[in-house]
Amino acid sequence: MRRTIIAGNWKMNCTRADARALVAGVVVAASQRPDVEVLVCPPYTALETATAAAAGTNVGVAAQNLFWKPKGAYTGQISAAMLVDLKISTVLVGHSETRGRFGVPEPDFDEAVLRHFGESDETVNRKVITALAAGIRPIICVGETLAERSAGATDVVVADQVRKALQNIDPAQNEVVFAYEPVWAIGTGEVCAPDEANRVCGVIRQTVAELSTQSAASSLRVQYGGSVKPDNAADLLSRTNIDGALVGGASLNAADFTAIILAAPV
Ligand code: PEP
Repeated sequence: MRRTIIAGNWKMNCTRADARALVAGVVVAASQRPDVEVLVCPPYTALETATAAAAGTNVGVAAQNLFWKPKGAYTGQISAAMLVDLKISTVLVGHSETRGRFGVPEPDFDEAVLRHFGESDETVNRKVITALAAGIRPIICVGETLAERSAGATDVVVADQVRKALQNIDPAQNEVVFAYEPVWAIGTGEVCAPDEANRVCGVIRQTVAELSTQSAASSLRVQYGGSVKPDNAADLLSRTNIDGALVGGASLNAADFTAIILAAPV
């Protein structure tokens, strides 16, 4: 039995005061569902505040990214040791907004600038290795763009991202979580149909079985992310291959995030 994992990715939102207030709401929801693993992913600046606000509750705090170098002249980057110092034990890796794969066309200037975050499959793999070596569990985001889906390449793209993210890592020996996040569904309000989301989460599981063992694949947790809202969460979360949700926009509203947590199958 895989424990449902619901994570809220706050992206570049929330001051420390906002974080305190939001965690207070999430704590109430999480206390009603101790069977569900609930995480919030604040920006770096609010990690410590959110951790303090969640202390003694069953809400966990995760970071949104990390860099693979241990220290040095890497302006703006955060190392694994810095996250460990804050007692952070989960990190998102390879979110499409850091891979530079966008669901919504951006105006040219933003597009050009944002693409410089340009995560590749290789940097994702380095970050996964770095996180695990530091005892931090990665939530690895994978997913196809609309063009890739339209070309019928979804399964190939997703399986390839999974294989490359796990290069030199055995998921039988290390806990990793995957989030299937179709790029076209992120922040667009257009959710992937639950049957299809379930099918692609199954592709991720099957790929892990091929790379590792059937037992590692059976215990692997795979979240769905992309416009998860209170009105579609129960349907998605009831599917056999979907073990949770990675929630962006709706996680910034305590009532909406609460409804999503409570929608997890009992
Ligand atoms: C995300 O950013 O991971 C995400 C799924 O966003 P949203 O829920 O807003 O689509």
